[in-house]
Amino acid sequence: MAVPRNRTSNARKNSRRSHHAKTPKNVIKCSNCSGSCLPHKLCLHCGHYSGRAVISMKKDVE
Ligand SMILES: [Zn+2]
Repeated sequence: MAVPRNRTSNARKNSRRSHHAKTPKNVIKCSNCSGSCLPHKLCLHCGHYSGRAVISMKKDVE
């Protein structure tokens, strides 16, 4: 198995990891219930997508 000849310096390691930062999620507002939801996804609060109910979010299911 190949083994690295030289130890990676802290500067080189940190420079490589400078591109690894996470970006925050793009949260949009639901047009039906004005709750926060993800774009191109079903609203998890009311079950609407693009202005119509896709699934019913009844809470009386036992
Ligand atoms: Zn909603």
